[in-house]
Amino acid sequence: MIRANILKIREELPPHVKLIAVSKTKPAEQIMEAYEIGQRAFGENKVQELVIKYEQLPKDIEWHLIGHLQSNKVKYIAAFVHLIHAVDSLKLLEVINKEGAKNNRVINCLLQFHIANEETKFGLDLDEAKALLKSDSYQSMQNIAIPGVMGMASFTDNEQQVRAEFRMLKSIYEELHSEFSMQNFNILSFGMSGDYKIAIEEGSNMVRVGSSIFGGR
Ligand SMILES: *Cc1c(COP(=O)(O)O)cnc(C)c1O
Repeated sequence: MIRANILKIREELPPHVKLIAVSKTKPAEQIMEAYEIGQRAFGENKVQELVIKYEQLPKDIEWHLIGHLQSNKVKYIAAFVHLIHAVDSLKLLEVINKEGAKNNRVINCLLQFHIANEETKFGLDLDEAKALLKSDSYQSMQNIAIPGVMGMASFTDNEQQVRAEFRMLKSIYEELHSEFSMQNFNILSFGMSGDYKIAIEEGSNMVRVGSSIFGGR
């Protein structure tokens, strides 16, 4: 099933859209099924689970941390994480920068924006992001790169609302891109199993799909 699901989703994705297979809560054997048909980018939302899977699985997997990250856990993933999707504070960025320096690498981080109509979702608003990008602290960081933005739409069947939220994220991205003339700022990470088709129509180029590949959790 996993193989068939991935093949079907791949057929639907335009070539500029990257698929992150969200494997949280799923065992290593299921990840290997996806790996065997060429899937290399996997997303996890818990640091501890990510570290265990990193140790068990082939080293050419690109690991994406897609969930909320606590500062005190950055050290466990700093040596190998490919992309941290959900950075929403300068303080967290400072810690990631420090751990990046210790590991002698630049760590890629997306800024997470709060676009959903729900209290519970993490994320910055546009003004907070601008303040972060203008800060002396950010400007002196040597071990951080910010290649784009990430967001999660409301959990709702209302397609118009989801579309409007994605559109807002796209316009935030465009405003930051032009105001800060950021280099290599080209990732728009939005869209999950329930809404990735809408997300792509609204400009996403990185979708994070879990249950449509691995089944329910
Ligand atoms: C779990 C999760 C996903 C994938 O969700 P599905 O609905 O299973 O596709 C995507 N993004 C984040 C941040 C997640 O936590």
